[in-house]
Amino acid sequence: MFGQMQDRPLLISSLIEHANQSHPHAEIVSRTVEGPVHRCTYGDLSRRSKQVAKAMLALGVEPGDRIGTLAWNGYRHMELYFGVSGMGAVLHTINPRLFPDQIEYIANHAEDRVLFFDLTFAPLVEKLGPLMTTVKAFVAMTDRAHMPALKLPNVLCYEELVAAQDSDYAWPTFDERTASSLCYTSGTTGHPKGVLYSHRSTVLHSWSACTTDSLGLSSAESALLVVPMFHVNAWGMPYAGALCGAKLVLPGPGLDGRSVYELMRDEKVTLALGVPTVWLMLFNHVDAAKLDPKKDLCLQRAVIGGSAAPRAMSERFEKEFGAFVVHAWGMTEMSPLGSVCNLLPKHRDFTLEQRLDLQCKQGRAPYGVELRIADDEGRSLPHDGVAFGHLLVRGPWITDGYFKGEGGQIVDGDGFFDTGDVATIDADGYMQITDRSKDVIKSGGEWISSIDLENAAMGHPGVAEAAVIGIAHEKWQERPLLIVVKKAGQDPTREEILAFLATRVAKWWLPDDVAFVAELPHTATGKLLKVKLREAFREHRLPDVG
Ligand code: ADP
Repeated sequence: MFGQMQDRPLLISSLIEHANQSHPHAEIVSRTVEGPVHRCTYGDLSRRSKQVAKAMLALGVEPGDRIGTLAWNGYRHMELYFGVSGMGAVLHTINPRLFPDQIEYIANHAEDRVLFFDLTFAPLVEKLGPLMTTVKAFVAMTDRAHMPALKLPNVLCYEELVAAQDSDYAWPTFDERTASSLCYTSGTTGHPKGVLYSHRSTVLHSWSACTTDSLGLSSAESALLVVPMFHVNAWGMPYAGALCGAKLVLPGPGLDGRSVYELMRDEKVTLALGVPTVWLMLFNHVDAAKLDPKKDLCLQRAVIGGSAAPRAMSERFEKEFGAFVVHAWGMTEMSPLGSVCNLLPKHRDFTLEQRLDLQCKQGRAPYGVELRIADDEGRSLPHDGVAFGHLLVRGPWITDGYFKGEGGQIVDGDGFFDTGDVATIDADGYMQITDRSKDVIKSGGEWISSIDLENAAMGHPGVAEAAVIGIAHEKWQERPLLIVVKKAGQDPTREEILAFLATRVAKWWLPDDVAFVAELPHTATGKLLKVKLREAFREHRLPDVG
């Protein structure tokens, strides 16, 4: 027997419709590429995304067509989020920080029909445009006065496209499983692979993000999205913002410490989201300009994800900004939210030190995400906070397969996807990433966490950045090599660093050697590129330490 409740599809258009009904005056504030700060409301966004949808139809775009963007966080990009997906096409946000040949590959693989771009990327589009074989029109996201002179046929002006349409448009209704947007993983190995989200997965993910045990986004927040809209849909916040009517603050290309700080101050930001690197830039600005964030700002929470939130960063947010760090973990394949670190009643009596330790964990899975850890043979490992193994996930906003079947079958017989991360889960369900599976160091049948070693090494006052890789070893199979970038003006020695580590990690985890380099290689999303390091140190010979 079926229930007798209304079967309304979960469509992205319903989010913007709701925002228009219930939060028409909530603001979206954008720093534009052209310069000035732009202000609009969800009411404006609703109208203009309908104009965008009609403009798509006028361009001959059909349901299912992929529409590319190379754009910062801004109101026009938001209009595309709702206008393109709302009319049934697929929004494909391209990460402009990828290498040009990757961007070319992605646009061709996705078969993008139209490419929207911010003025910043005009030179890139001029270069790559002729190589993007399926793109029929390039749209500069600006007005006539700012149109770039490009040596490309078919360059259109966004504001003209929008102005040519009115907002008399009813969003179409279709199956909620219809594809809505496409993001490619940055592909540290092989070609980037596409993750194709659906309307249903996007709405469920947004709903979850607004719950208190997740990111708790709500109409009471002024939320600064420093995480780019070309990186897993800014962690889904543009959709979640419309769902709950949060004020959204979009920094455009201004990701430097000063611009971020000023927006936080001027827009009374209460919640800010970004990767650790942007917060380091913010801290540097606070130091250089001798600012008092507690006095200037009303930040209450900072969401940190993308890579591990360092303990010192949570401490600084707490002490200098009066803000609680919400540590979150996820990946492109998971829309991206997989776990969030919030507190339980039992943590209320924790000292700050104890709480900061807890905040180093990536947190607990919200309803909708199932987490498992398993050994190499697929056997489940205990949730005791000690055993670590492959982290497997399952849920309605987690991928079932890459776009066009790349990579083949990627979920196991029970429907679990292997994240490629290695983690512990404690008795309260708090998960902590200890490594990437390809980076974990297998020494004499035991696993050594490269991330734990890196974090320990970063605690040394002379170390600016650290990476640990496994080096082949006759007796132990692999042993750790620590690679260090020294802090400016400091000159720590190999012996000093090893002595420092000896007090912090198990003896058998101690790196066999330390190498010093001027800089470490990173991916387009700021993660350590260990493949490059392994190549560079392939011939490295470890000293005989027994
Ligand atoms: P990419 O950088 O490849 O585009 P993602 O953003 O999808 O991709 O990266 C996902 C990976 O980032 C995760 O599998 C995990 O290794 C890492 N990651 C994300 N958040 C965290 C976190 N809070 N702590 C540690 N690692 C994280």
